[in-house]
Formats: sequence, C-alpha cells, structure tokens
Amino acid sequence: MADKRFVTLDGNEATANIAHLCNEVMAIYPITPSSGLGELPDAWAAAGRKNAFGSVPHVVEMQSEAGAAGAVHGALQTGALTSTFTASQGLLLMIPNMFKIAGELTPTVFHVTARTVATHALSIFGDHSDVMACRTTGWAMLASGSVQEAQDMALIAHQATLEARVPFLHFYDGFRISHEVNKIEPLGDEDVRAFLDKELIRQHRQRALSPERPKLRGTAQNPDHFFQGREACNPFYDATPGIVQKTMDKFARMFGRQYHLFDYSGSPDAERVIVAMSSACGVVEETVDKLVAEGQKVGLVKIRLFRPFDGRAFVACLPRTTRIIAALDRTKEPGALGEPVYQDVVTALAEYWATNGDEALPRVIGGRYGLSSKEFTPAMVAGIYAEMAKPQPKRHFTIGIRDDVTHLSLEYDENFSTEAPDVVRGVFYGLGSDGTVSAVRSTVKILGENTPLYAQGYFVYDSRKAGSVTTSHLRVSPRPIKGSYLVHKATFVACHQFHFLERIDMLSVAEPGATFLLNSPYGPDEVWDHLPREVQEQILAKRLKFFVVDAYRVARETGMGVRINTIMQTCFFQLAGMLPADVAIAHIKDSIKATYGKKGGEKVVQQNFAAVDAALAALHEVKVPDRVTSTLCMVPPVPEDAPPFVKNVLGAIIANRGDELPVSAMPVDGTFPTGTTQYEKRSIAQDIPIWDPKICTQCGFCSLVCPHAAIRMKAYPAQQLAGAPEGFKATDWKGKEYPGYKFTVQVYPDDCTGCGLCVDACPAKDKAVPKHKAIDMEPKLKHLHQERKNLAFFMEIPDLDRSQV
Ligand code: SF4
Ligand code: SF4
Repeated sequence: MADKRFVTLDGNEATANIAHLCNEVMAIYPITPSSGLGELPDAWAAAGRKNAFGSVPHVVEMQSEAGAAGAVHGALQTGALTSTFTASQGLLLMIPNMFKIAGELTPTVFHVTARTVATHALSIFGDHSDVMACRTTGWAMLASGSVQEAQDMALIAHQATLEARVPFLHFYDGFRISHEVNKIEPLGDEDVRAFLDKELIRQHRQRALSPERPKLRGTAQNPDHFFQGREACNPFYDATPGIVQKTMDKFARMFGRQYHLFDYSGSPDAERVIVAMSSACGVVEETVDKLVAEGQKVGLVKIRLFRPFDGRAFVACLPRTTRIIAALDRTKEPGALGEPVYQDVVTALAEYWATNGDEALPRVIGGRYGLSSKEFTPAMVAGIYAEMAKPQPKRHFTIGIRDDVTHLSLEYDENFSTEAPDVVRGVFYGLGSDGTVSAVRSTVKILGENTPLYAQGYFVYDSRKAGSVTTSHLRVSPRPIKGSYLVHKATFVACHQFHFLERIDMLSVAEPGATFLLNSPYGPDEVWDHLPREVQEQILAKRLKFFVVDAYRVARETGMGVRINTIMQTCFFQLAGMLPADVAIAHIKDSIKATYGKKGGEKVVQQNFAAVDAALAALHEVKVPDRVTSTLCMVPPVPEDAPPFVKNVLGAIIANRGDELPVSAMPVDGTFPTGTTQYEKRSIAQDIPIWDPKICTQCGFCSLVCPHAAIRMKAYPAQQLAGAPEGFKATDWKGKEYPGYKFTVQVYPDDCTGCGLCVDACPAKDKAVPKHKAIDMEPKLKHLHQERKNLAFFMEIPDLDRSQV
C-alpha cells in the first residue's frame, strides 16, 4: 500500500482519462449518464491537455449521436485514433455507422454507460438493453464491473482493438459505475504511452484512405459475392479473444492487475454457479465470499469479453463440479427463448462441455435483474443460490420485483446481509441543490486519498434533478469494497432538510444503535416535540444516538447563504470518528481551498472556513426522552381522497415505496392517467412568499411568473369569506368590475419551490420599509401550518365565472 498511489474518482472520469490519452479525435454528443465522458476530454482539450502521443486531441460536439458516429467513422478513415461516448437511444443512433466501422475492420473504442432503452416508458437509468441491441453490429463487447475496471478495461480495449482490427464497445453500468466514486489505482500518462503498441498504431494509419495509397472502400456488392465478402472477416473474430487475453496478460505484467476473458471466483468445487456481467459481479462476489465461508459450494463467473463469446474459455473457467448455472441478464428480450447471456451460456455448454470430460451437462436457468437500475443486492443473490438448490428451480426467473402476473419472480430473504460491522455506512438525505452530494463526494475523496481506508460514494438522483431529494450512500471500509449497491443498513443517517422528516421514512434504513444527524432549526431541548411520531418511535426502538445542528443558521451567520454542505460534512466527521477532529477539519479546509480557491476566490474560501469552524459549536446531542410524545404524524404521500391509481400506485412511488409495487399494479403499456401532479406535494422550499395585502397593488405579476403555478389569486364575493380560518388574508378588490368583491393572493406552500421569482417580480414596495414588498420570502416552517389551512379554504372559493371576466 505504501508504494501505491490512489485517487478517488467516478467511473466516467476514470474512463475519460484513458480515452483522452489514447485518442486524437473525439466526436461527442452528450447523453445521460455518459455526458461526463465527453465533457471531461472537451474541457481538458480546451485547457491544452495532451494525449499520450504529445498532441491535444480534437474534441468536436456534433448535432446528434448519429452525427458523432458518422464523424468518428470519417476520422477513422483518415487514420486518426478516434472514439466517442454514449448510452441508450444515443447508442441506437450510432448502430448504422457501427455496422460500417466493423465491416471495414476499423479499430476504435466506443465507451458506453449502459442505459435503459425507452420502451413502455423512458428511463435515464442503467441496464444493458442498449448494448445488447448492438450484438449484431460485429463489435467486440468488453464489460467493466467497477470504477477500477472501467479504467483498466478502457486501456485494454484501446490496445486490443488496434491488434484485432475489430472495433470495441467498452461498457459499464450507467449510474452504478459511471457515477460511483471509488478509490482506485490510477494509470498515468507514461503508463498509457508505454502500454500502447506504436507499431499497431502505424499499421492503423497505413490503412487510412489517402491519395498517396489510393484504394476504394464502401462499394456496393451483388448477391454473387457479398456473402463471401461477409465471411472473409471470420479469422479476425476468431483471433480477437486471444488478442484480448494477451493484452490482459500484458496489462497484468505492467500494472499487476490480472484479468481474463472470464474470471472465476468462489469454491473450487462449486455446484451452483452464477454467470454475470458488469457491476452485478461485485455484488455476487461479496455474497459468494460469505456463502463459501459458511461452507456452501457456490461460485461466480464474471464475463469480461462478451463478444466475441469464447465458449471454450467460458467452459474451461467453470469448475467441473458445476451442477447448475444461473445466467443473469440486465435486459429483457420479450419473446426470446432467453436473454443474451443465458442463450450464450446454453450454447457454449452444448458445444464445449463434453469436450472437457464426461460429467453431466449442468442445468442452466436464466434470470433478469436490475432493469433501469433496480437495486441488486446480496440478499437477492442469496435468493438465486437458494433457488438453484431446489430440485426443480424456475428455468426463467426475475429477482428484485414481485411478479404476481406471470409469477416469474423469486422470493428472497431481504434481511440477508453481507455488511461487515467495521464498515461505516452512511445515508445522507439532501436536496438536489443543497450541496449534500458535493459534501459526500468530498468526504470520499478525503478518506480515499488521505487514509488507508477505502471509500465508496453513490448518489441516487431523482430524474427531476434540482429541487428533488438526493440520497447519498457512503461506505468506508478497511478493505476494498466489492459490492456496488445501496446502503440498506446504515450506521449513520443524516437528514439535511428538516421538512423531509414528515414525508420520507429515512430511519427505516438505520441499524440499531446508529447515529442520526438532523439539520434542525430547533435546538436540542425543543426538537423532540417537532418530530413526527413515526420518527420518535424509530429513534426509541432502535436506540439511535441523536444529534442536531442548525446548519442554515450557521450558514447565514458565516455568509454562506443556503450552502450547508461543509457544515454538515464537518459534523459527520466529528460524529463518525474515523479521523481525529483536527485532522478531519484540516482535510476539509484543504478540500475547500481546492474546490473554491480558483472559482470562488479568497472570500468564498474564508466563508467556508468560518462555517466549518462554527459547525461543531452548533452541534448538539439530543437527550432522547424515554417515550413518544409527538402529536404530529408523517404526511400521507397523497391525500386520502385521491383517485385509487394515485393512492395505490403514485402514492407508493412518491413515498419511496415504488419497489414494493407488484407487476399487476403497473399499466401494461405505460399509459398513465393525466393531471396527477396535483397530488404530489414535494414541499421542498426553505422559504415561501408571504403576502401583505396592505401594500399589494393586485397586479398579478407574482401569479403570472411562478413557473409552478404555486401562487394564485382570486377575486370573490365578500360572503365567501364566511367560515374562513383565523389568519386567512383578504383585502378589497381594487378594480371597478366587481364592486364589493374581496381579493386574496395565496401561496401553495407544499408546491412552492422557494425560487423567489414571484418576489422579484412584485413591484409593490412598502414606502416606509423599502425592503418589504407585498410578498416577501419567509421561513416556511414558521408559516406552514397556517398557510396549509389558508390554502384549504382558498381552494373552496369558487373561481370567477369566466363569461364575466
Ligand atoms: S417562490 Fe417560486 S415557486 Fe414559490 S410561489 Fe414564488 S415563484 Fe412560485
Ligand atoms: S403580491 Fe405583488 S406581484 Fe402579487 S399581485 Fe400583489 S403587488 Fe402584484
């Protein structure tokens, strides 16, 4: 460890670094979750960073992924070393060019963050449906299952394609690997320069279309000879697996990490073997380690090179004791006899098992898992191994969902866990824009690069991005972390937004005895009575250690505005106790300097320093009472009177219980009812506009500019005010059209995002107090209860008859 250098970065940065060093041209078009792959080389090239050959790569953004693939095809024909990056529909747009590039035996690597292809619904999340749609293009397909592998396989792919002349699709799981931050051994510029074979690059250039060596490419061929021409490439595909293995061996000699076309892990005399690809491998391996230690004969085959599929190497990798194989696919091919990995495993066994002895052919079952980034956990893996032990296991199954329609899903014990007690496991709930993700990323970096500990960070984003809940998952371990899955048993839970407590059941993830840190406007002596009953119950039942910090107050007082990230981060380090407080604070300050020193300047750095220094003084342990006292309850995700579909399906999704929905709950063709947004109350604003009727000019600008229609106005007959709750605001209607009418501006406190646009637009200022307008942003918690009552009444007031407007 002492001689090794480590960095912490995500899968996209690890891959982009290799792509930048190996290429002269990169044609890009951004698509989630591959955007970082193109953006980083673009920024590096703009800053003059050179590739491994001493030139600055030419990075060009095209008008679409089809254009990017076309530009790559063109650049390759000039002999330039060229790549692109994409995912999902973007990859589909590249397929026509991919057929051509492979047909012309042109070396290149496309790096793909494997992502769901839109079917009944769009999804930005990860599975293999996009890369599996490319199986017929003639590209080699090399899979990575971790951030370290993403870097290593990227380089192996760039070298192997030059020798094989077969183009390579290097892929890893979108989000799960592309956005996971982990500690890896980096490859430097010199490493890449030394690894790439200059003679192979020269040969690639020699094959370029050039007036100096005229030749014709891209002809049209007739039935008499096209077929033969198509078969002429066979020797190149036959040779590719051997070239990849040779390249992997060279990689091992130079950098010490040995990979094979298929890697086996587990009991040498395993009877039950799972075959998997990409990030699932780490999860299965972690489970195998535990089950083997318990005496079970189980194993795992990791597929590295999926195409060309070397059936002989696959069979050679399996223990001869193998009795049953479960082939796992992260994709769905409706109507097929089985998904791609399953089909290849069956074919490989049929063709090669008998050549290696006379043991009975293993039974093969196939399972779908993890579509659209659905969690895949050790508990599910244990469930698969349990199914494999049955006399009649399901031949085709799903795992991780409840299929009550075609009954393909397997039952499993959700409490099965491989988490070790010495691993710190944190879950941090924040807003998409409050800096929580940055804080956890910085924590991973501090621990990964300054201590012998291994750290893994993963971030669950809502596709609505800013203003949505982000959940950051952190593991810190004395050992390398194999499994890429969410933290389900946390030793530390942090709630960075107080109002989440009434909507998110965040303590269900806490282990007994865990630490709970709450950003609270209420101090240690008063916070208890402001917690919902459900939260109090869990704190007591699990005997949680409970701490509060008023991070927003500290942020305000130190000039940080609403940026609470460094404050919460400082408190985490203090409570988690992995580093002495002074050491942790010194690292946090270094990280602040590195992050804000250039772009924010000294003032921002000093404000952050002040926030860090003030954080610990504001951190207090709460003396937890011995019983539940609260009269508050968590808010139901949607109103009780919502339509059944909204209550039963959307309500579960809003409450973060979408994983519990059975197959039968979902529309068969993705068709949803409309007008359901009204039922989702995200309640994400810190501050909301509060109306002062005395100075309002009734201009309506506030209502007009609100992007969420979260502030509305009504003019109505005075008698409508009968029964108004105390505190409901109204004033006389100023216009001549409706004499005697009343007027109200009402905020929708749980729909408002706190953006402040309405206040900016409001022209009515108080002459005596110029800073006071007819609407001012004020802390939501102070007004929430009243404004909810006001809104309920406001909604009952009939709208004006449109024919009279
Ligand atoms: S703060 Fe923004 S979201 Fe809220 S009511 Fe005003 S304009 Fe609408
Ligand atoms: S609150 Fe301001 S913007 Fe809204 S109606 Fe009154 S004066 Fe106009």
